[in-house]
Amino acid sequence: MSKSHRGTGIRAMASHGRGKCPVCGNENIKVLYEKEIDGNKAMICKFCNANLKNKARKEAKNAAPAAEAPAAEAPAEA
Ligand SMILES: [Zn+2]
Repeated sequence: MSKSHRGTGIRAMASHGRGKCPVCGNENIKVLYEKEIDGNKAMICKFCNANLKNKARKEAKNAAPAAEAPAAEAPAEA
């Protein structure tokens, strides 16, 4: 099995997977990651992929304690 984002894995792709990233607007960068942006599937670069992934992770982390807080307070009051 080849690595899907480098070497043989991207040789078959148009321009070896290079193009313009719709998120950062960088041209001639490898756009290998499919991401849904505003309902549309778009191919983005690894930097934007990591950026969006980190944002989603932080949002999930922020949402989790808020959801758990009422449950944690309940036993103390009772
Ligand atoms: Zn990008």
